[in-house]
Amino acid sequence: MTRTDVLVIGGGLAGLSTAWHLRRLGLTSVLVVEKEARPGGRAGTVEKDGFLFDQTGHLLHLHDPYGRKLILRLLAGNLSLRERSSWIHSHGVFTRYPFQANTFGLPRGVVEDCVALFAKSRYRPARLGKAPSFERWCLAAFGEGISRHFMFPYNAKLWRAELSELTTEWQGRFLPRPSPEEVLYGALFDQKKFFGYNAAFRYPLRGGIQVLPDALARGVPGLRLEAELERVDLDEKVAVVKGLGEVRYERLVNTMPLPFFLDKACALPKAVRTARAALRWRDVYNLNIGIARADVSDKHWIYFPEKRFAFYRAGFLTNFSKSLAPRGMTSMYIEVSRRPEERPSKAALERRILAGLRSCGLLKASDRLAARHWFKIDAAYVLYDRARTPAVAAAMAWLRSRGAESIGRWGAWKYSFMEETLLDGKACAQRLAGRRGVQHIDEAELAPLR
Ligand SMILES: Cc1cc2nc3c(=O)[nH]c(=O)nc-3n(C[C@H](O)[C@H](O)[C@H](O)COP(=O)(O)OP(=O)(O)OC[C@H]3O[C@@H](n4cnc5c(N)ncnc54)[C@H](O)[C@@H]3O)c2cc1C
Repeated sequence: MTRTDVLVIGGGLAGLSTAWHLRRLGLTSVLVVEKEARPGGRAGTVEKDGFLFDQTGHLLHLHDPYGRKLILRLLAGNLSLRERSSWIHSHGVFTRYPFQANTFGLPRGVVEDCVALFAKSRYRPARLGKAPSFERWCLAAFGEGISRHFMFPYNAKLWRAELSELTTEWQGRFLPRPSPEEVLYGALFDQKKFFGYNAAFRYPLRGGIQVLPDALARGVPGLRLEAELERVDLDEKVAVVKGLGEVRYERLVNTMPLPFFLDKACALPKAVRTARAALRWRDVYNLNIGIARADVSDKHWIYFPEKRFAFYRAGFLTNFSKSLAPRGMTSMYIEVSRRPEERPSKAALERRILAGLRSCGLLKASDRLAARHWFKIDAAYVLYDRARTPAVAAAMAWLRSRGAESIGRWGAWKYSFMEETLLDGKACAQRLAGRRGVQHIDEAELAPLR
């Protein structure tokens, strides 16, 4: 039987960051088990026919001083910084993101609706209760026009749920709220101002986003690949891992999706079974294509709110880094959301996607595809309905009572991004090592390990 002080489930960014920081804090008996043959999880890249495909777009938005320092150090000399060029396609035209601040260029009736009803929502503000639905919040924040022309159709397509069921807990910094002056200016002129939390982003010059988990993995000697957790007994503190057999541990950190982890655990109490059953999500089907033509677009990514397009977003990987495709070619990612019980035909989806890309002028009829690759991203988006927060709290309380933690975007069952995931791993390592204070790991500890 294998023994370890800390068993980490999952070698994505959360698991790797936990183990990487534990090592710097002096804990060396750490085993990370990853079911795939490469580390990185969703922040992983696949090579296909000379193209490097990430799982949709994986761009680095750095906000936290430590997160920034860590990522810049890990990827020293291999990062570019770019200003976002993100757009919306609707009514046959491309307008700048975010829609609410950039209606210039849309048909006159649409602009009128958006501006007049936004003004109405300012002069006659709706009373929002303590916990409004996402639908009511949109109407209050943006008015009926912006909601009807963008917020509702786009979010209905992404979430594939009634927007009245969703809470507002997830959107936080992700949805920019322009001032009345900005809404008006953006209706009259091509407003080039940046809004939102991700006005600029960083991305590896070479190697796709895979280089980030790879850099962390070099500092994690206890990483075992193709080692899938099959079962865990949290009372006995014994896990069964494919290829390793029984693993006895003192403390456990889970980073795989919370409901799937609970499915592996023995003897869940009734309250936790109920909580597990309440967790909902959406899968993303991500088609990546290589196009035998250079510079198909100068945009980074585009939102598609209209129903006639199968996809809600599409982007250009080669505009993040030319090195992702052979010379003279362009690569794209296209994202489609589905409920987990839906089983779409990829061939039919691909036909609809390509027809959509041609109908909006991004692809030409003469374009030849040099590569295609599908990723199915299970549980890509956690659904924030009213049941989510109490269900997560119940599951976490039970896990804590068994000496286990569940962290990262899917372990903590939340909406977050790579930098936050790395910080989740760091905070978890500090808790396990009994050291507090977010800045505890200093510059010297970032130096390469001997
Ligand atoms: C569509 C989409 C777009 C995104 N775009 C961005 C972006 O532009 N910028 C950004 O910062 N973030 C983005 N993110 C978020 C980013 O992917 C996450 O924050 C990050 O990858 C989370 O890492 P993690 O370690 O928590 O989870 P994961 O990457 O899922 O890692 C969990 C690991 O557990 C492994 N695992 C699962 N089951 C088992 C098992 N039974 N046994 C062993 N191992 C197992 C998995 O293989 C995986 O490697 C995006 C996410 C999605 C879905």
